[in-house]
Amino acid sequence: MRKIIFFFVLLVACTSNPNQPVRTSAEPSGRPKLVVGIIVDQMRHEYLYRYYDKFGNDGFKRIMKEGFVNKNTHYNYIPTKTAPGHASVYTGTTPAVHGIIGNSWYDRKLKRDIENVEDTVLKCLSPRNMLATTITDELKIATQGRSKVIGISIKDRGAILPAGHNPDGAFWYEEETGNFTSSKYYNNPSPEWLKKFNDKHYADSLLNLTWNTLLPIAEYTESGPDDTNYEEIFEGKERPVFPYNLAELRSKNDNFELLPTTPFGNTITTLLAIAAMEGEKIGQDEVTDFLAISYSSTDKIGHAFGPQSVEVEDVYLRLDQELASLIAYFDKNVGKGEYLLFLTADHATAEVPGLMNDQKMPAGLFPEDDLKDKINTQLGRLIGKGNWVDAVGNEQVFLNQSLIQEKKLELVKVQQLVADYLGQQEGIAIAFPANLFKTNHYASGTEALLYRGYHWKRSGDILMVYEPGWIAHEPVGTSHGSGYAYDTHVPMLWFGWKIKPGVSSNRHCITDIGPTISNLLDIAWPNGTRGNPIEEVVNN
Ligand SMILES: [Zn+2]
Repeated sequence: MRKIIFFFVLLVACTSNPNQPVRTSAEPSGRPKLVVGIIVDQMRHEYLYRYYDKFGNDGFKRIMKEGFVNKNTHYNYIPTKTAPGHASVYTGTTPAVHGIIGNSWYDRKLKRDIENVEDTVLKCLSPRNMLATTITDELKIATQGRSKVIGISIKDRGAILPAGHNPDGAFWYEEETGNFTSSKYYNNPSPEWLKKFNDKHYADSLLNLTWNTLLPIAEYTESGPDDTNYEEIFEGKERPVFPYNLAELRSKNDNFELLPTTPFGNTITTLLAIAAMEGEKIGQDEVTDFLAISYSSTDKIGHAFGPQSVEVEDVYLRLDQELASLIAYFDKNVGKGEYLLFLTADHATAEVPGLMNDQKMPAGLFPEDDLKDKINTQLGRLIGKGNWVDAVGNEQVFLNQSLIQEKKLELVKVQQLVADYLGQQEGIAIAFPANLFKTNHYASGTEALLYRGYHWKRSGDILMVYEPGWIAHEPVGTSHGSGYAYDTHVPMLWFGWKIKPGVSSNRHCITDIGPTISNLLDIAWPNGTRGNPIEEVVNN
């Protein structure tokens, strides 16, 4: 008889504090003219405080002083990656429901990897793979389409997923041309204002600048030395050190492809956001509009140089200035207190393992590349020779299920054999046979993080979890994707319309953002929502 185990827990991982003051009336309180969602790609919560003294008064500091800060906001699933992160913020749910299980993943039907925003029907980029509605979708529905919704980012996924399924536009950077572009999925992929923006060739002029530190480099005491052996070196540079003369480096680094890995990728994003505001007349009438911005250069620079680098500190000091100019623009053109702004991240990031090891701290580099062969060899010994593995990616193993069927083997048993083997490898903490999700319910611990990130049709057969501090990466730079605090702990800031200054350390999940906005606007929740409105924000 099959043993079925259920874990009942009284408390889910993310709860609101019932002792918060509540509004005394349930009457509707109207809506703002504009909601601005800002995702800072790869931003850790701790950066707010590490760099605080170096920020100016009008960016992060102003949001933190005049707004509401949740100091304990986490991703509640594995994998903490860009596409799942953006989808989860805007859908209020996790990959198990919205289906965006990675930036790319192995597709069993197509027998190849697909990109998260790859539209195999229209043969272009679109949000088709995202299976749940976003808060931006719900705003469109609530206003019979009268709300304007625009998504903007350097990365396609950073623009496409937040803007939802039926926005007025989603625009992202094209690395071949330095222009911003869209796709035929959208009704108006090439508006007049975008053509004018591209005609200004901002990418070209920004790539003629030199990236030097904003402040004298000796003042970057929050970061390690500029020159380490654990940072990427641009082609044409001897060492990974300031200054970066982009006019010289661009030709050796694929020209426009270089821009996102400089702070000026954020600059051009801000310029485009303002151009979209003007071009689409956003926030100019009584119907609530939504501008979704995702800043990508923080992530590109984070991957290349790591969280203790001068480069990362510098991109945040400069982003602080971008935010200051953006907020000043909204104040002037939408009106102080007339817009609601939130800021968070799509994931955070791990420390650079080499730097950790040098300080006697646990971390490591897991060799993922030859894993497919190793698993095949191991299964060859146990159940006979064959191509048992279709793919390994996103810390998941995809088994050759048709071969397993053909040989009349039980899938869960093969999964268990692979999990047993992987579990013995150095650097792997847990290897988990996915079919256990059929019989067990996990509400806490690592298994619950995997469960919320697991999609039945799309995810792999065996899920791997590395030991804390371990990444599958080369020795320079870093990565993210785990369920550990360094990857899950992100900022959650609220500012503007109906937001009173305050701070809270109650634990909240990233999936609480969607329903919090729904609650503030009194509209329907994104249809796959698993989170809850944050009491301290909606009733403070
Ligand atoms: Zn990201």
